[in-house]
Amino acid sequence: MPSSRVTDSVAHVALVGAGPGDPGLLTVRAHDLLARADVVVHDRLVPPEVLALAAGARLVDVGKRAGCHPVPQGRINDLLIEEARRVGTGGLVVRLKGGDPYVFGRGGEEATRLLEAGVPFEVVPGVTSAVAAPALAGIPVTDRRLSSSFHVVTAHRRAGAPLDIDYEALVRTGGTLVFLMAVATLDEVCAGLVSAGMDPGTPAAVVERGTLPDQRRVDGTVETIGALSRAAAVGSPALLVVGDVCSLAPRLDFRARLPLAGRRVVVTRPRDRAAGIAGLLTGLGARVDLVPCVETRAVPPALLAPVVERVPDFSWVVLTSTFGVSCLMDALDAAGCDVRWLAGARVAAIGSATAAELARRGVRADLVPEVYDGAHLGAAIASAAAPGERVLLFRAAAGTRDLPDALAAAGVPYEDVAAYETVLAPEPAPEGLAEALADGVVDVVTFTSGSTVEGFARLFPDASGWRFVAACLGERTAARARAHGYRAVVAPEATIEALAHAVAVVQFSA
Ligand code: SAH
Repeated sequence: MPSSRVTDSVAHVALVGAGPGDPGLLTVRAHDLLARADVVVHDRLVPPEVLALAAGARLVDVGKRAGCHPVPQGRINDLLIEEARRVGTGGLVVRLKGGDPYVFGRGGEEATRLLEAGVPFEVVPGVTSAVAAPALAGIPVTDRRLSSSFHVVTAHRRAGAPLDIDYEALVRTGGTLVFLMAVATLDEVCAGLVSAGMDPGTPAAVVERGTLPDQRRVDGTVETIGALSRAAAVGSPALLVVGDVCSLAPRLDFRARLPLAGRRVVVTRPRDRAAGIAGLLTGLGARVDLVPCVETRAVPPALLAPVVERVPDFSWVVLTSTFGVSCLMDALDAAGCDVRWLAGARVAAIGSATAAELARRGVRADLVPEVYDGAHLGAAIASAAAPGERVLLFRAAAGTRDLPDALAAAGVPYEDVAAYETVLAPEPAPEGLAEALADGVVDVVTFTSGSTVEGFARLFPDASGWRFVAACLGERTAARARAHGYRAVVAPEATIEALAHAVAVVQFSA
């Protein structure tokens, strides 16, 4: 049968909703499919964090920008079929759309074309912005006390044509009205509702970039919301909510009550280590900018192989970071050895995290100092080492002097091997950030080490005296920040939880 032959040679296509913007609102099914996708055909409103989940996929952007349509819908339909055929049996093509694929997403047209072409497909519903953006702005779309129905309407105008909305019918429902694609047509929609008999004093709200960290809400009435939104320069994506439920917004906007609501915080950690602190700050209501100010780069393992070959000449091997542990293991591998090569040496770790990484690799640390820093590590080794025992330090190039100085002071011979280097300012500063920092639009910059301070100072050489607050992990980091002329506060403990707390209690000047 010809049709089954076609079906046999095509990939499966999933029409997947990416949710309203906050990556946390993605469904588990969407998450799974993205991880397995061969190709992802996506829109403009899909958040980058969601696209990043499709690590193994080829990305095809068919995004539409307001007013111009780079890829017409008919072409997208054909493209899905072409990709399904190209990927072939057993493969997966994900068609990823903002919100829900069947809520003004033209998902129905795409599904119909796939069906006609004999391409197997499924639909994965998403959290629609029509409900989620009002919710996170404090507006329940229904409420037994105020509204017993809600109606989602498109306020998109085809070029030149008037809006095709039955205002009388909508007003008669007495329910909550949610208008999508409404930025350009706010005045026309509101005038239409009033002329159909709606009370001009009916509460209304516009929600811009709903569920995202920089979400904004403008409150007004059907009569005033157009002018108020223009004054606030509301842009896309945004939606209009009309109805008495809008009056609940100021009280139910729980995000506005979070300690860092409305605050913008820069995280300077390396990108691969920023998630912890960024997540805590977002949970406290902050808008977080990731600006990696340092990057750790390993010395190629082949270059370190000759060093590890000499490990039997040493009585101690010392690690000062989890990254150093992985560099050591890679170097052992490059030298054709494994952890047994360390058998004759005692192994010291600077702290619990480094010791845990060693344990994960099958090596139990013989020594961890009581206080996790270089000076204490050096002193502990010096008192444990027998006279003449040699120490191999396997750590960052240009690491602090505390550790070698403590060994030298005790007369312990050592060799300091640079296993990795810390590169300052590995990426250019994001556009506009310097101005935002200077003007206090960014409230706080978090620093987790002296090198993050130095990397930041390299990116922003004029930052001395700017209005942001430097929230620092540890006194040493704070001292570096102050040396650059930043106003610094210090986390009471050396943990990212304590750092997030320090940010939350910053006394912001007006
Ligand atoms: N399928 C999508 C809607 C697509 S139409 C969904 O279910 O959400 C695009 C319109 O959705 C935008 O013009 C805007 O009105 C609305 N929209 C999408 N994301 C939004 C967001 N984060 N905040 C406010 N409105 C949003």
